[in-house]
Amino acid sequence: MLQNVGAAPLPFLAAAAQSDADYRNRYSRSAECEYFMNHCNCGAPFGDYFLHSEPGHAFYPIGESGVKAIKAHRINCHDPLEFDCGFGGWSSLCPVENGTAGERITVPSA
Ligand SMILES: [Zn+2]
Repeated sequence: MLQNVGAAPLPFLAAAAQSDADYRNRYSRSAECEYFMNHCNCGAPFGDYFLHSEPGHAFYPIGESGVKAIKAHRINCHDPLEFDCGFGGWSSLCPVENGTAGERITVPSA
């Protein structure tokens, strides 16, 4: 699961814009940098630490129902996608193993 996405390729950003999520770049005082984050309907940001590192929250499911609540969207792109981000793997859905924030990684094409 990608997190603290500081830079993302256009196919990813286009797919995010077409989803029903409000996902956009914003400065995080906690992370002390700008990254793409989810926002509430009221415009309040949901920082990635909260969503990815707190058990039971959106991207840290603690049961099968939590996993099923996550919507995955296929990106129509045949080239590998390069991101400037961190990542964590909590399930077999994740294409990469655990790593640290700020690494530049490439997600293989499907
Ligand atoms: Zn709200």
